[in-house]
Amino acid sequence: MTSNPEAPISLRVIAIDGPAGSGKSTVAKAVALRLGLEYLDTGAMYRAVAFAAISGGVDVEDADRVADIAERARIDVDEMGVRVDGVDATIEIRGPEVTRAVSIVAANPKVRAALRDQQRAWARRRGGGVLEGRDIGTVVFPDAMLKVYLTADPEVRAARRTKEVTDLSYQTVAADIARRDALDSGRHHDPLSEAADAVHVDTSELTIDGVVDCILELLL
Ligand code: C5P
Repeated sequence: MTSNPEAPISLRVIAIDGPAGSGKSTVAKAVALRLGLEYLDTGAMYRAVAFAAISGGVDVEDADRVADIAERARIDVDEMGVRVDGVDATIEIRGPEVTRAVSIVAANPKVRAALRDQQRAWARRRGGGVLEGRDIGTVVFPDAMLKVYLTADPEVRAARRTKEVTDLSYQTVAADIARRDALDSGRHHDPLSEAADAVHVDTSELTIDGVVDCILELLL
C-alpha cells in the first residue's frame, strides 16, 4: 500500500495565544520543557521581519517590500536567540524601535502568510511543538491538540513587562501595550482573538507554576 502524501499528518501541537504580558512565553517554555517538546515564539518572527526592514532602510508601511523580506529572509528562532540571515538580532528585536513597528508589519497579510507557512513547517519537521502567539489556535493550527488563551489585567501585564525591560517606565510600557492590544485586536487579517474551543486562563493572580500545572492537567 502506498502512503497518501496529501493525508493530514497528526501533529502534537499546543497553541498558546494571548496579548502582550499575559505570560505566554514563560508558560509556553515551561510547558514545552515538561513535555519534552520544542517551543516557538512566533512574536519573535514578526519582530525579526520588522528588524530586517528597519535595518535595511525599508519603510515598514511599504507592504510589498516588507512582504518580500518576510518571504526571503532566513529567520531562525531557537533557544540560542534570533538570527536574521545569520545576523544575531536577539537584543535588537526587543528594542523600542522594533516594538513600535512590529504591529504594522504584523498587519500585512503577505507577511502573515509567509510566517504562517514557516510556522507550520517548523511544527511538521518536529511532529509538533508548543507555539505561542496571537493566532496559533485560530489560524495557524486550528486543529491543535490543545488551545490555551492567556489573559491578565492590563495593569498586571504592564507591570510584568516593565520588570523585563528595566529601562522603560511603567507608563511608557503600559501605553505601548495598550497601543499594541488595539492594533493587534483591530487588524483585518488574523486579529488577536480567542478560539471558540480554547481554554481561557486569567493569569493575573496565578504563579507561572500554577498556570503550567493547570495546562498539563488539561492534557491528562
Ligand atoms: O509576542 P510579542 O509581543 O513579542 O509579539 C510582537 C508582535 O507580533 C505582536 O504585538 C503582534 O503584532 C505580532 N504577532 C502576531 N501574531 C503572532 C505573534 C505575534 O501578529 N502569532
